[in-house]
Amino acid sequence: MSSGRATQELLDRLVEGARAAARAGRVADYIPALARARPEAVGAAITSVEGELLESGEARAGFTLQSVSKAIALPYVIDARGEEAVFSRVGKEPTGDPFNSIIRLEASSLKKPYNPMINAGAIVLSSLMPGSTGEERAAGFRGYAAALLGLPSLALDEEVYRSEAATANKNRSIAWFLKELGLVEGEVDEALDGYFRQCATLVDAASLSRCGACLALDGLEPGSAGGSGRRLMSERAARVTKALMCSCGLYDGSGAFCVEAGIPAKSGVGGGILASARGRAGIGSYGPALDPRGNSAAGLSIVEGLSRELGLFAL
Ligand code: GLN
Repeated sequence: MSSGRATQELLDRLVEGARAAARAGRVADYIPALARARPEAVGAAITSVEGELLESGEARAGFTLQSVSKAIALPYVIDARGEEAVFSRVGKEPTGDPFNSIIRLEASSLKKPYNPMINAGAIVLSSLMPGSTGEERAAGFRGYAAALLGLPSLALDEEVYRSEAATANKNRSIAWFLKELGLVEGEVDEALDGYFRQCATLVDAASLSRCGACLALDGLEPGSAGGSGRRLMSERAARVTKALMCSCGLYDGSGAFCVEAGIPAKSGVGGGILASARGRAGIGSYGPALDPRGNSAAGLSIVEGLSRELGLFAL
């Protein structure tokens, strides 16, 4: 990366500047436990491919992965089960619909979720994870995610998990419809339970940025000399994941974000964004106040600013 000091100053400036965007956003409350988040919280971090971390604001504040987990579940299941197992059940196309939309499952001729970055696709992938119960699958997912985030282990936020499980009528409807289409492996309730648990994985922006750096290295662990050499996911899984993050990672805001930032990213209603600039760095941001599409208002402004000012555009 360019001089560490200049990048640190830029990061500080963008985090400060994003506070106005945060004030215009709203914390998600359809999962009741998420409403506890402080809307004014903003933080961000960058990890270079050499493994050097810069952070600003609340980069160590804990939050749940929510839909950011979809960008980690995808390479996990591709490498565990193979591309054919995934893409025979889930498409590769954007929807232009909200993340929890059910409408295309019946209305389109595809008869499968459009992509793995929306709830319907992620519930199918949850059913394909190694293990037979939601708990076993989510434990495997957390182990895989911990390695990408450079941590020994990751914890489950029990309260958020229970809160979503108690209120997720829409996701239940989606999952049962998926079962009707023959796309859920095993029990529907276990697929849903695994999905709620994966969404309730506790992370912070600093460790998310490290995951972005691994994606920036096409699946290698960040470290000196452009990667430590340890492979954490296959090159193909990294490429497929980044392509789908680009086209579908911010749901019905994906196109506009790609125009502004030009790098793959994935958001979650917990307030996180994971982004990756190939061969350069990973970015993690936190800001629980969301825009109307469910993307972190502060996070969008920070990631777009970093891409613009550091020339991270991949396109
Ligand atoms: N667990 C959340 C849900 O299924 C994830 C949504 C999101 O982060 N966009 O509704």
